[in-house]
Amino acid sequence: MSTKVAVVTGSNKGIGLAIVRALCQQHYHGDVYLTARDSGRGDEAVKSLAADGLTAKFHQLDINDEKSIVSAAAFFKKTYGGVDVLINNAGIAFKDADPAPFPVQAEVTLKTNYFATRDMLTHFLPLIKAGGRVVNVSSFVGARTLNKCSAALQQRFRSDDITEEELTGLMEQFVDLAKKGEHEKGGWANTAYGTSKTGLTVLTMIHARRLTKERPHDGILVNACCPGWVRTDMAGPKAPKSPEEGAATPVFLALLPAGATDPHGRFVSDKEVQPW
Ligand code: NDP
Repeated sequence: MSTKVAVVTGSNKGIGLAIVRALCQQHYHGDVYLTARDSGRGDEAVKSLAADGLTAKFHQLDINDEKSIVSAAAFFKKTYGGVDVLINNAGIAFKDADPAPFPVQAEVTLKTNYFATRDMLTHFLPLIKAGGRVVNVSSFVGARTLNKCSAALQQRFRSDDITEEELTGLMEQFVDLAKKGEHEKGGWANTAYGTSKTGLTVLTMIHARRLTKERPHDGILVNACCPGWVRTDMAGPKAPKSPEEGAATPVFLALLPAGATDPHGRFVSDKEVQPW
């Protein structure tokens, strides 16, 4: 049997690093890859784990660069024959005080949190092995944002016939309207980060339905989750959870036992399925 492998995006710091640490500590039966867009920051993080007696491997991976995604996907295909656990953790958020205008925030935030994460899934979902687990780190803010959208948008985001193409078109529409200052008139909430995470959660649900249909016997489980409000560079020092506590739900979903059938296609917080 080939060696198992777990891959965590954006894991040189914050929740991603805590996820890698937890997978190593819980003796994940396989290789654990810490990935980062910057090799220097990635190497430093691997060294910090080594100093605690933990062994993670490193691969460069910038999710905003499709070439980097393709090259990482080829590496995991060649070295491991695929991927057993994928945790899409990489994400960005503008600070409240950031002076960047909303259209810029909308374009940049959606680029990483939705479009680039979707690119990751386009190239990595076909590599997920039978029994694999895919975890997309979304946010409770995405669920809150959903409730602030127009009834028509809410209906689409909760429907089980929305396609990836329709969803992606809607995410593009949000960015286009934001550039014209018309997103709220178009039924969208006034948050780029929240919208990007609404999109990521809906994308997760679409992929889960697709895998159930196309690979019904492979037992792959795909879920979105919220780590909680966590003390990281993104959320700041006032957040109540430590990165280790924030890693708990993503790791729980990544290590759902063999043969488990649920959760699948759900949004999970504090290890519990949440209403959508
Ligand atoms: P941090 O800002 O601490 O870490 C974000 C990580 O993502 C960094 O390693 C960063 O790399 C990486 N990253 C950003 N862009 C890219 C990219 N293009 N390619 C590869 N890696 C990238 O944030 P958190 O740890 O707090 O957040 C992790 C995830 O959890 C995010 O998806 C976030 O939205 C989500 N989340 C966080 C919450 C919180 O309270 N902290 C609450 C809810 C959700 P680099 O160091 O190079 O910038």
